[in-house]
Order: sequence, then structure tokens, then C-alpha cells
Amino acid sequence: MKEHILKYVLKNALDFQGKANSKVVLGQVLKEHEELKKDVPKLLKEIEQVIKEVEAMPSEKIKEKLEKEFPKLLKEKKEERVEGALKPLANAQKGKVVTRIAPSPSGPLHIGHAYGASLNYEYAKMYDGKLLLRIEDTNPEHIYPDAYRLIEEDVKWLSDNHVAEVIIQSSRLEIYYSYAEELVKKGKAYVCTCDADQWRLLKAEGTACPCRELPVEGQHARYKKMLKGYAEGEAVLRLKTDITDKNPAMRDFSLMRVNEHVHPRTGTKYRVWPLMIFSVAIDDYESGVTHVLNGKDHADNAKKEAMIMKCLGWKAPEYSHWGRINFQGMKISTSETRLKIEHKEYTGWDDIRLPFLPALRKRGYQAGAFRKFAAEIGLSLNDKTVAPEEFWKIVNACNKDIVESQADRYFFVDNPIRITVQDAPKKEVMIDLHPDFPKRGKRKLLVHGEFLISENDFRTLGEGYMHRLMDYGNFRLKGETFHYVSESYDEYKNASNKGKIIHWLPPKNNVPVEIMMEDGSLSKGFGEETLRGVKEGGIIQFERRFFVRVDKSSKKGMTCWFLHR
Ligand SMILES: [Zn+2]
Repeated sequence: MKEHILKYVLKNALDFQGKANSKVVLGQVLKEHEELKKDVPKLLKEIEQVIKEVEAMPSEKIKEKLEKEFPKLLKEKKEERVEGALKPLANAQKGKVVTRIAPSPSGPLHIGHAYGASLNYEYAKMYDGKLLLRIEDTNPEHIYPDAYRLIEEDVKWLSDNHVAEVIIQSSRLEIYYSYAEELVKKGKAYVCTCDADQWRLLKAEGTACPCRELPVEGQHARYKKMLKGYAEGEAVLRLKTDITDKNPAMRDFSLMRVNEHVHPRTGTKYRVWPLMIFSVAIDDYESGVTHVLNGKDHADNAKKEAMIMKCLGWKAPEYSHWGRINFQGMKISTSETRLKIEHKEYTGWDDIRLPFLPALRKRGYQAGAFRKFAAEIGLSLNDKTVAPEEFWKIVNACNKDIVESQADRYFFVDNPIRITVQDAPKKEVMIDLHPDFPKRGKRKLLVHGEFLISENDFRTLGEGYMHRLMDYGNFRLKGETFHYVSESYDEYKNASNKGKIIHWLPPKNNVPVEIMMEDGSLSKGFGEETLRGVKEGGIIQFERRFFVRVDKSSKKGMTCWFLHR
């Protein structure tokens, strides 16, 4: 059993900087050895034991062991992660591919949508094609009016402003009506006025209802009446399919219905609304969509859409679907979140605790990080359960790749305590804004014996150790007082009783800084004077702590949003 566990622990540890996740390993082991499901607690214990052993190994050793004992697993990993290795699409021609993102206006996009939207954009990009945004609002109920603006902002952001066209379905009712009329005139659709329950019974036994057999002229009159006269629930427009189709869902399914709800965009102007499959089929054709990529929960709808297109003499696009990504335990329900915002439990869609794009953007996440995540998962039909820690580990690593070089570094001290270091020389300390890019300039900190350090650091400074004020000098604690030792970093590094490296600030001229933390709490402290030069929206790193995005900056101080470590 240990053998089975070991290989996944090694691989997981290698993928995530030496830290393996016991639940992820458990899932992988169980997938391969179902018989172990009998005693999961025992298995989990063993996994945790193996993780302890592996985490004690240096990272080169982990890789070496994996290469030697499980070379196949390492090879698989490499193949999966080749940059830009999205599987090609069927019948895709360079310059001709058109994909679309088609959300309903219920709120802004969350991390689940980000995956689908990114994948559609990545494929459009891969084939020098076009990405469309289509807002599907033909159900006048449950529309959140702000969502139109929020969704457009999110999709433009995710695609680096590469949305070729924004289509709003409620602006296209007349177009849907004209195709509906065409289907009626061709004898391919009919208005059904049967009682809904009765019709369901007929459908179940594969029998046509009396409406289906009426002559075309009569159908047309009924269609006109549907637009003006029939009340909600009295009539639906149905496509004539095979009434004995093996799949009952495919039998004469409905295309349009009467819904007298007031629509937030069109008011009471329209009362007959297409069902999603109908408007989708027409729009995909009219806007030249070549490839439809969406969740496999849309697979049945795709069949209906293709049927509608066939009746109109059109060629259906290529359909590909992906498996459901279940973000374990993450709160991504749009309707629930909306209620909580209304009840002031959250401050808005950009509340830092939420996995919606407005919040993630405000923290400094880059669209590229989500796109990289999506490209790594790719188009796969398997359902996946992603543990939040695992998801954020990957996205944060992708994001760090992007922001690390751009983010200049500064000192931040929370809950500051003033200390005096005896014999510390007066000095103008010059530190690079970014160690890898010395040409960007330097930060200047003027000190003379007094320093502000964080209360947390202060409490953990042990007596007798050699500690270091970063980029300034070494000191020791003797009894109650701090004493300067030397400037040399080598001396600190080689000290037999090496203590902590801490960041610090001079006692004066600092900038008050508040940081909105992940849990919604505010961390308060000071940052160095040079911070005044950082613009709002900039991403910086508070040295040895974490990355933040500067949200507001004024003479009074600065407000930042926590990004990641
Ligand atoms: Zn009928």
C-alpha cells in the first residue's frame, strides 16, 4: 500500500514546492485502487505519515526518487504541462475560428466562469480567430440589471480587451420572431395550445397532439395570435421532431413561450420569449460561431440546437464540452451571494472574501493567471473536484510568475514598536527597488539608532542570537537592550547562533498603510516614505511578507489589498 501512496505524495510534493496535500493524494490513490475505499481513515493516516517523510526530504531528492522509481508519472506530468499545449479543435482553420462566451445576466463572473471564458479566448487566440460575448437574457425573470455591465467588464478583462462583439439577446427579439415564422411557414414548427400535463402524457407515449396536424395556414394564424393574444401558459411554439425519438426530451421540444414578466431592458414591449436553445441556435448561426465550447451539462441542448439549425438548412458548429469543476467548499453561488450583499453581509461583489472577478481584480490578480490555469486543465470531459488550497496554489503560482518582476519591494511594519539599538551608526541606507532590476532606482531610508519593527518580530527576538535588520546591519539582544554588532551580511549568515532577518523602518516620515486582508480584516502599520511614489493600481511586494495591490493613495496614507504570498 505504501508504494501506491508514495508515488502520488512524491508527485504532489514536486508540483507544489515540497508540500503535498493529503486529500488530493487520497483521491488519486482511491481512483487507482478502489478496494482501499473500505478503510479510508486508515489510508488517510498512512498518507499523512508518508507526507511527513517526504516533506523532510530536500526537493532534489524528491525529484530524483520520482525519476528513478516512477518515471512514467513524471513523464505524464511533463506532457500535460507543455506550454500552450491545448488540444487542437476539430475542423478548425487558422483565421476562421469564432468562439463565444454566453453567460446569463445573474451577476459578475466567478472563478468557475473564468475557466470557461479563458478557454474560449485561448482557443480563439490559438487560431487567430474571434471571441464573442453574448449575454443570454431571454428569460425575463431572475435578471440582475447590473450584471450586463459587470459581465462585460469581466470578459474584457479576462481577454485583454479582445472581445470582438457584444451581443445582447433581448435586443434581437424581432430576429427570433422572423425565424420562428419561417419554421411555421415551412411546416416545421407549430403552436401547441394543449394543457401542459396532458401534452406530457402524450409525449411520454410518443403520440402527436392535435395541434401538430393542423394545416400550415391555420398554424400561421395561431402563431400571429401567440404574439398578440394567447396568455402566459396558453401556447408554446414547438419544433416538429420525431415524436417517437428514443430520447423523450427530443420529442417536439418547445422553442418559444409567452412570459409576461417585465423585462429590465425591454419592459413590456415583448411578451413572447425564445427558449435558450432557440435563441442560441439562431445567434450561433448569425454571428458565425464555428466552435461551441461549454460544460457537458449543455450537451443535450447542443443536440436540440443542431436539430433546429438543420430545420433551417444551416450547418451546426462543432460542439465540445468540458467536465464540471467542483470547487470544493467554495461559495460561488451567484444568487446566494447577491442576497448576502443585499443584507450587507458582504460589502459588494468586490468583497475580498469572494471568488468573483471584481474582488480578484481589485486584489491584483492578473487575467493571464486564470488563462494559464485554464490552459493547463484544458478541455477534458472528466469531472474534477478541486480543493480550494490546491486551486489557489496553482493560480497564485501562475500570478506570481507574472507580477514578481514588475512589483517593486518595500518595507511594511504592522503594529510597530520603536526600539533603540545601541551604537548603531547613522546611515543613509540605499536599497534597490527590485534586486533583479537595479536600474529601476533605489529606496532611501535614513536611520540613527532608532527603528520601528513589527510587534510580532519584536516578541520573537531571542537573547544571545545574531539578528539582522535587513540591508542595514546585525545586532544582538543582551538583557533588555539591543546592541549593534556589524554591517556584514556574511557575518550574519555564518553566525553559529543565527537569529532572524527582520524588516524595519526609520522612526520618522513613514506612510500610514492599511491592508485589507483575505478574511476581511484590516492590518494597520507603516510603510517607508518611498511608497509615496507608487501609483494607485500598482502591484508591490512588502518585503518578506506578501504582494499587494495599491487601491488608494493620498497624502494621508495608503490602502492596499492583499494579493498573495
Ligand atoms: Zn398541442
